Amino acid sequence: MPQQNNTAILDLLLKIGRHWLITALGLAGAILVACGFFDQPLTGFRYHPLLLAVIMLFAVVDTLRRARGWQPILFQQRIEGPLLWTVAVWMLLRLLPQFASHTIVVPAALIAWLVVSTPPTVFLPPLMTGLAMEAGLTLTGRQDLRTLGLNLSVFSLTVMALSLFVWSKAYRHRLRKAIARGRQEETTREYAADLGLVAARSPRPDPTAQEGEHEAASPDNRPAAELVAASFDLQMEMIRQALQATTVALLWPDSKGKELRLRNIASERGDIALGPYPLGTGITGALRQTGGELALAPAGRSCPGLPYYQNNGKVGGVLAMEIATNRPLVATAEHPAGVLCVDRLVTTPWTASDRDFLRVAARKLSLELTMGRRLLSMDLERDTMQQLYLGLRELNGVLGLEASFDATIKTITALVQADFVAITLIEGKVHRIARAEGFQAEHLTGLTFPVEEGLLGQALKFNRSMPAKAEYQGPAPVFSNSHLLKGFHSLLIVPLRKEDGGTPLGALCVAAKKRAMFTRARQDILELIAGQFAVKIDLAKAHEKINRLATTDGLTELANHRTFQHAFDIMLARAERRNSLLCIILCDIDHFKGINDAYGHPFGDTVLHAVAQILGRAVRKIDLAARYGGEEFAIILEDAGQEGGRQMAERIRHEVERLVLSCHDEAVRVTISLGLTAYPSDGASKDVLIAHADQALYRAKRAGRNRVMAWADAEASE
Ligand code: GH3
Ligand code: MG
Ligand code: MG
Repeated sequence: MPQQNNTAILDLLLKIGRHWLITALGLAGAILVACGFFDQPLTGFRYHPLLLAVIMLFAVVDTLRRARGWQPILFQQRIEGPLLWTVAVWMLLRLLPQFASHTIVVPAALIAWLVVSTPPTVFLPPLMTGLAMEAGLTLTGRQDLRTLGLNLSVFSLTVMALSLFVWSKAYRHRLRKAIARGRQEETTREYAADLGLVAARSPRPDPTAQEGEHEAASPDNRPAAELVAASFDLQMEMIRQALQATTVALLWPDSKGKELRLRNIASERGDIALGPYPLGTGITGALRQTGGELALAPAGRSCPGLPYYQNNGKVGGVLAMEIATNRPLVATAEHPAGVLCVDRLVTTPWTASDRDFLRVAARKLSLELTMGRRLLSMDLERDTMQQLYLGLRELNGVLGLEASFDATIKTITALVQADFVAITLIEGKVHRIARAEGFQAEHLTGLTFPVEEGLLGQALKFNRSMPAKAEYQGPAPVFSNSHLLKGFHSLLIVPLRKEDGGTPLGALCVAAKKRAMFTRARQDILELIAGQFAVKIDLAKAHEKINRLATTDGLTELANHRTFQHAFDIMLARAERRNSLLCIILCDIDHFKGINDAYGHPFGDTVLHAVAQILGRAVRKIDLAARYGGEEFAIILEDAGQEGGRQMAERIRHEVERLVLSCHDEAVRVTISLGLTAYPSDGASKDVLIAHADQALYRAKRAGRNRVMAWADAEASE
């Protein structure tokens, strides 16, 4: 039993000994320092250099172990090193008094470094030991209180200063890391652009989109590029290992095709030059001459330069091949290929299977890229389709020409990013610019040009979109030979045709300042919109025709009675609201029955039409001339009182009087009588005003016809 006990105690002691021996050694050293054993002149104890050497040895061993990646697990293992170094420094200080007085800065710096770089469990024991040694030295009379105070002050100041410095350095480090992260993102974006893995345009938010409708349509391209980059990195390493190469690198032309960039690399060497590298020299130049594939071994002096090494290290063999960038299928000077390049130390020739392997790997990289791009273009297509759908839906939803112009222009601007959109409509022998918007579009709306002139005339003549490739070699006549559009590089004129496919209605003219804006896909979209828009114009025209038929009188082409009543209501309401004047004139052809009787009813119609023409021409746009019924007409003049109305009535009367019509070679003349009344002086309501105008007309007839009579005059005279 006691033996067992002894074994247990021995085990425990051994355990403690194994784990705590060095720590205990350090602490023992500290006690010796505190008791003044290391002070000059050395008193009694003669083994101080040996003890110092042992402690230093253990401290150095600990530091070396840590430097090689050893991670201490036990508490005492973690504090061992710091403790030993602390004690060693104090020992040295006490041994070399000639450096004394201010040398407390040295241990202070050590402790400060521990404080800022290790957790409290690690820095507290050495710190306490240091303080204990100082205290011990003071208590045993080796140093006075003043020195202790001075030492402690210098010590605290050093710790604080160093901590501040280190923490600010740590802060700067974090800052640098954050900046580096930002750069990394920038690089990823660049990568995506060079490999064609970003959208050609950023999708614009569509104002017509319902909430949430648009979210699904905006593709996020970065993850695709990042995935490709990560997969390429892996493949570089796989190729490197399979071919036992020093380096495998993928060099890719930037999106402008001006230089090569290092895109992915797996390498054993550390002297990698990150580029960019010039195109057409070194390995890329050699590849161009060897038809896109190059196998060199032994490489020797004739080996073309590998741009990605900083130093001229040994290169035994080089195997490189071009990778189609998939922009054009064949690499050209404007669209250079990417390069997959492998080099290794051994000079043994590349075998056929090495070359096959790299060819397959290159093909795989190229395919992966194509797939990435296709996924992206599918996203874009979906986005475009959605916008097109929304645009066409809006176009279908509107009524009337003006509203369909608005919808069409809005859709076109959103979908093809045009800087200029014009819509022209054919009216007889001329084009009229019904609407023009955007850059240089001022003052264009309303202008007319001969139908056959300019590019527009060509597009209509050949019945297809012009010019070819949608390039604008400006300034060129677009609408007419005398009118030039300037400042554009892309232009497309799409004829608007009736649904029957032939009859031209007008044209859509779209221009952009940037080059190559109207790609084939965009031309298709524009033609689709143009087709839909043409249907809409046709519909709107039909709609307007029906409207016109319903509101005008067929014989005289003036407004009909119903329209007159309706317009009168509106004009009267407006005059009331604005406190403005109105003048109403009723006209009646004199002895018209006689004309009918003498020359026949059809000639009567001719007379009605001729008189109506005079009335229609006489009034301003804001006024209204209508056939009131039979051979009676009505006119409403806005912002005109009795005097203004009388002048207008007299002018009409004169013109009719001068009118000579011929029937069977016989000159026929007619006269009219007019009665006028004014709002608000002669009456406030429609009925009263009409009744008064009628009375005035009746008086004009009674007074002998072919004259103008105002209701107010008649009232005054009676
Ligand atoms: P007054 O000078 O008093 O106005 O004499 P009037 O002959 O014009 O008198 P009345 O109003 O009686 O005659 C109007 C005639 O106009 C009667 C009708 O046959 C004729 N008339 C009405 N509408 C038309 C039409 O659309 N075409 C033709 N040709 N004649 C019409
Ligand atoms: Mg009459
Ligand atoms: Mg009459």
